[in-house]
Amino acid sequence: MCFAAAPVILSTIDAASAEARRVLLLHAFGHPYSPWSDFAASFRAELVKKSPDPIDLYEVSLDTARVQDPQGEAPFVEYIRALLGGRSPDLIVPVGAPAAFFLQRHRAQLYPTTPMLILGADLRRIPGARLTKYDTGVLLDLDLPAYLDNVLRLLPDTTNVAVVVGHSPVERYWASEVQREFERFGDRVTISWFNDLTFGEMLRRAATMPPRSAIFWFLLSEDAAGVPYSQDRALETMREVANVPVFGMGDYELGRGIVGGPLMQTQALGHAGAEVALRIFKGETPGDINPPAVLFGAPTYDARELQRWGIAESRLPPGSIVQFREPTMWEQHPGLAVAAAFAFALQTAVLAVLLVQRRRRRRAETLLKESEERMTFAASSVNLSLWQFDRDTGELWTTDNCRTLFGLRDDAALTREALLATIHPEDRESAVASLRQALDANQFAIDDFRVVLPDGRIRWVRARARAHVGNLGGSNRVAGTFIDITEQKDAAAEAGLRRQEVAHLMRVYTLGELSGAIAHEINQPLTAILSNAQAALHLLDQGSPDSAELRDVLKDIVHEDRRAGEVIQRLRGLLKKGEKKAETLDVNSLVHSTIALLRNELIIRKIAVKVDLAEALPAPAGDSIQLQQVLLNLMMNAMDAMADTPVAQRFIAVSTRTTSSGGVEVRVRDRGAGIGPAQADQLFQPFFTTKGHGLGLGLTICSSIVQAHGGTLSLKNDESGGAVAVFTLPGHEILLAAQ
Ligand code: ADP
Repeated sequence: MCFAAAPVILSTIDAASAEARRVLLLHAFGHPYSPWSDFAASFRAELVKKSPDPIDLYEVSLDTARVQDPQGEAPFVEYIRALLGGRSPDLIVPVGAPAAFFLQRHRAQLYPTTPMLILGADLRRIPGARLTKYDTGVLLDLDLPAYLDNVLRLLPDTTNVAVVVGHSPVERYWASEVQREFERFGDRVTISWFNDLTFGEMLRRAATMPPRSAIFWFLLSEDAAGVPYSQDRALETMREVANVPVFGMGDYELGRGIVGGPLMQTQALGHAGAEVALRIFKGETPGDINPPAVLFGAPTYDARELQRWGIAESRLPPGSIVQFREPTMWEQHPGLAVAAAFAFALQTAVLAVLLVQRRRRRRAETLLKESEERMTFAASSVNLSLWQFDRDTGELWTTDNCRTLFGLRDDAALTREALLATIHPEDRESAVASLRQALDANQFAIDDFRVVLPDGRIRWVRARARAHVGNLGGSNRVAGTFIDITEQKDAAAEAGLRRQEVAHLMRVYTLGELSGAIAHEINQPLTAILSNAQAALHLLDQGSPDSAELRDVLKDIVHEDRRAGEVIQRLRGLLKKGEKKAETLDVNSLVHSTIALLRNELIIRKIAVKVDLAEALPAPAGDSIQLQQVLLNLMMNAMDAMADTPVAQRFIAVSTRTTSSGGVEVRVRDRGAGIGPAQADQLFQPFFTTKGHGLGLGLTICSSIVQAHGGTLSLKNDESGGAVAVFTLPGHEILLAAQ
C-alpha cells in the first residue's frame, strides 16, 4: 500500500489579508495517473489563477481504486484527518469516480457537511440520487461509440479493432462498458481486447495486427500482471511498435501517438471544475449547482499521424482541428526564410534577365545569320563577292563565292596575298594602289583588273573599296565588293570590233548594190576614151590630120581617163577600212558625186532628183569618203522609202545651205511613206529596220559619223509628205575653234 500525500500551499502571498481556502484533492490512484492527474492539474492551475483568496491545497493519493479493498481504507481516513490537523477543508474534490466512491463511503468521518465537488467521473458512474445537497460534480459524458465511428470514418476498410484497456477494477468496469457500447459495430468489425494481457503481450499484438486493423487506446493504469502504468511512455511505446494506427480517448494523449478524433477534454473539465469551486467559495450551495456534463470538443487530430497512415484530411469531419503540422521553413526561421526568399527572388530575376538576354542574343544572332545569308545569297546571285580587310590584324573576310571568282581551291587560305597572287602581274600594282588609296585617303576607290585562273583563262574583276572609320578616327579597315565583269569587257571589245566590221560590211554591201552603177560610170569614160582614141586614129589615117581637132580628141581622152581614175579612187576609198581623214570638204561637189554614183540606180527606180545647192558654202573639215557614205545611205533610204510611191511623184530633193552658226546643213527629202509614230524613237537604234533585206545599221553609222564630225543628224516627217533627213556639219573655223 502506498501513501503518497503532501500538503501543498500554493498561494500564501495574500495570507495576511485574506484567509486561505483549504481544498482537499483526492486521487483514487497515485496522482500521476492519467487522465485523473490531467483533470487535477488543470483544475488546480485554474483555481489558483481565478480565486480571489489564497488556496491552501491538500492533495492525497489513494491506491484504493487499484486494490478495491474497502476494509483497508481506514488508515487513509485517519491520514486525511491527521493531514488537516483538525481543521475542516472548505472544499473536498475527489478526482474520478473511485475517489468519489471512497469519500461517499467515509463521509460520516470525513467532513459530512463540507462541500464536495466530484471532478471527472463519468455520468453513468455517479447517479444524481446518490448526491447530497453538499455534493455536486463536474462530470463527463463519454460518447463511447463516437470513438469507433471516428475510426471507421477515417479508415472505412477497418475490420479489426483492438481495445487497449488495463486490468484494474476501474478499467475492468470500463472494459465492460466499452464492450457493451461497441456491440452495435459487431457486424462491421471484430473487436479484440487487451485487458487480459501483460503490456509486453499487448506490444507484440500491436506489432503484428492484421491488415485493415486499428488500435483504440482507452485506459491503461495497470496490466494483467498488476504492473502499473502511470505517466510513463506506455502509449508512445505502443505507437512505436504498432503496425496499424492507434486511436485514443482523451486530449492528453494527443501528440503522444494517437491519430485523434472526438476526445475527452481534460483541460475544459478542469476549468469547469474551478468555476464551480469558486461559486461554492462564494457561498452557493453545491446541490443547487448543476453544471452541465463535459462533452467532447471539436474532433482534433495529429497531422503527423494522419500523414504517417496516409489518411487524407478530406476524410476528417467538418470543423476538425489539426494540430502538430510540421512548421514550415517560414515559421521556423522567418528571418532566414525572408533572406532565402529574397535570394531566390533575386536569383530568379537574374536568371530571368539572363534568359531573356540569351533569347534576345540568340534571336539577334539568328537574325544576323539570316541577314548575312540573305546578303550573301543576294550578292552571289548577282555574281558579287563582299569582302572586308583589317589592316591592323591583316585579316581578310569574304563571302564564300570569292574563292570561285579568284579561282582559288576550296582548301586554300583566303588571304590578301593569296588574292593578290591571282591578279595579272600587269594589273597588280594598280589594284594595290587603289586599295591603298581607299585606306589612306579614306576614299571610295574602283579598279578593274584581270585575274589569271589556274587554267590560264583571264577573268576581269571590278573591285570597289571604301575605308571604314575606326573608333579612334583613323581608317584601319576597308570593305567593298568584287564583281566578275569579264562578259562586260568581252562584250565591249566585241562591240567595238563589230562596229568596225559592220561599217566595213556596210560599205561592201553598199558597193555591191552600186556595183552596176560604178561599172556603168567607168564604162562611160572608157567608152568615151575608146571612141576618142578610134577618132584620133581615124584622123591620123587621113594623112594630114587636123592637129587642133586631134588635140581636142586627145584632151577628151585625158579627161575621160581622169574621170575613170576618180571613180576607181572612190571605190578604193570605200572599200578601205581605216581612220578618218581630216580634209577640207566641198559639200556641194560631194552631193554631185554621190548622185553621180547613184545615177544608174535612180534611173532604174524611176526616181527624179532635184538639187538645190547653196553657193559659197563654208568648207567643213572631215573625211569625204565617210560623209559620202552618209549621203549615199540617206539617199538609198529615200529611194527605198518610195518603193510604193506612184512613179510620177517619186523624187529626191537634195539641198545644202549655210547655217546661222556658220556650218553646213544638208537635207535629203523624199516622197515616201514617211515615218510611223511607233518607229520614230527607234530609227537610230542599231539593227532597227522595217526592210526585209535591211541591216538596220545605216542610220546608226551615219549618226556616229556625223557626230564624229561635230554635227547632228535627224530624220523626221516632212510637212509636204514623206521624210526629210537633215545633217549639219560645223564650219572649218568653228570646228578648229572647238578643237
Ligand atoms: P536599213 O536601211 O538597213 O533598214 P537604216 O538604219 O538606214 O537601216 O534605217 C532604219 C530604218 O529607218 C529603215 O528600215 C526605215 O524603216 C527607216 N527609214 C530610214 N530612212 C527612211 C526614210 N527616208 N523614210 C522612211 N523611213 C525611213
